[in-house]
Amino acid sequence: MIKAKAFAAPSAKAPLAPFNFERRELRDNDVHIEIHYCGVCHSDVHQVRDEWGKGMFPMVPGHEIVGKVTAVGAKVKKFKVGDLAGVGCLVDSCLDCASCKEGLEQFCEKGFVGTYNSKEKDGSPTYGGYSTSIVTREEFCLSIPKNLDLAAAAPLLCAGITTYSPLRHWNVTKGQKVGVVGLGGLGHMAVKLANAIGAKVAVFTTSPSKVEDAKRLGAHEVIISKDMEQMKAHMGSFDFIIDTVSAPHDYNLYLSMLRRDGNMVLVGLPDTPPTLAAGALIMGRRKLGGSLIGGIQETQEMLDFCAKHNIVSDIEIIPIQKINEAYERMIKSDVKYRFVIDMKSLA
Ligand code: NAP
Ligand code: ZN
Repeated sequence: MIKAKAFAAPSAKAPLAPFNFERRELRDNDVHIEIHYCGVCHSDVHQVRDEWGKGMFPMVPGHEIVGKVTAVGAKVKKFKVGDLAGVGCLVDSCLDCASCKEGLEQFCEKGFVGTYNSKEKDGSPTYGGYSTSIVTREEFCLSIPKNLDLAAAAPLLCAGITTYSPLRHWNVTKGQKVGVVGLGGLGHMAVKLANAIGAKVAVFTTSPSKVEDAKRLGAHEVIISKDMEQMKAHMGSFDFIIDTVSAPHDYNLYLSMLRRDGNMVLVGLPDTPPTLAAGALIMGRRKLGGSLIGGIQETQEMLDFCAKHNIVSDIEIIPIQKINEAYERMIKSDVKYRFVIDMKSLA
């Protein structure tokens, strides 16, 4: 077994603390990655605090993992020692059902194996990227383009793909008016990606302090969502809205911002069920959907798109000892715009 150091939540809602465990010995198709950086996703907070239920503890969070390949199994073809590699939210699936065959492992009909807070097919718990290393089958490892700053590329593995996938699936094209609700980790990636596609991007934010940043990140307009005058001026005008907000809020207000036949997609996952007014959809034949991360092939496509357009996340690097503080700041929307853990701090 391979010894690993980590930070884990020993039980639901408990602060994260040092934790030692072992990774499995490499199987023939496994890649061993020495983790250099891991992004901090709001999903980590939801799960550590057991807001989605069924949390498995001790929990080592982290699904925005990048680092260097230090060993490969005998049958590994895509990776060699020294390569830069990443792992996102998925580490296994059946690879045989209709969804997996379409490259949509996140919708595996037998259930995917999550990078943490999940169980391997043999029943052992999975531990995530707030750790010194990870062993993952090669089908679920991504190649990180060399021209991207490694630490700032880490959040692409979740925040990047989660916003790229719906932009692609709903065919967002050049010139369309795209709304991004919430300027956090996911939101700021949505702004950069939609801008690179050529959309006209507007950010809805509750934080007036983020207006200038939103513009620098690529927004053409910024709307303070608490200001009803500003909101009214945009009613019925959006082709597409992506909602990245982590806390309960009113979806109906944003649905009214869509033009006829417009699409709104939820990626933010608050713990409280929303109230939906049928009229918000009926008036204008609007559609509300949802989207979950993205498949492995699409994640690689997104990484290559980011390499081509020189897109990475805006990050604040932290030592792992600051993780509990980072969670508190994230809950207060005080993150610009993704915390990334420097794993050297675990040495
Ligand atoms: P984050 O960095 O904390 O950003 C969330 C943003 O939402 C905040 O920065 C804030 O933006 C806004 N917000 C927060 N509280 C709010 C409130 N009470 N009312 C209105 N707006 C509020 O979080 P994240 O990492 O981007 O994750 C966002 C959500 O996506 C989480 O629920 C996470 O679990 C989920 N997620 C889903 C997927 C998926 O596959 N669907 C993948 C990853 C994450 P402003 O300051 O601009 O208002
Ligand atoms: Zn995430």
